[in-house]
Amino acid sequence: MDLIRIAASLLCPALAFVTLGYAIVCAVSPFGTCRRCAGLGRIGAARGLRSRPCRRCDATGIRIRLGRHLYHQATRIHRDGTR
Ligand SMILES: [Zn+2]
Repeated sequence: MDLIRIAASLLCPALAFVTLGYAIVCAVSPFGTCRRCAGLGRIGAARGLRSRPCRRCDATGIRIRLGRHLYHQATRIHRDGTR
């Protein structure tokens, strides 16, 4: 068995486990912490400036995960196509 086949046989199950793990995370916890404000909902307080609400998360401090967003898009397309 050459090196390419060994690498492929090790990489394919690893990618499947990573994908399955991310799907489980998206199902259990659909929202993550906003990366722009680190979950505070406000920006600028750390630098001594007057803080303002975070526009990316609408001052909630959370964001929807990409996998959950894609799942919602797929279910929306399926629902609109089968109605
Ligand atoms: Zn934010």
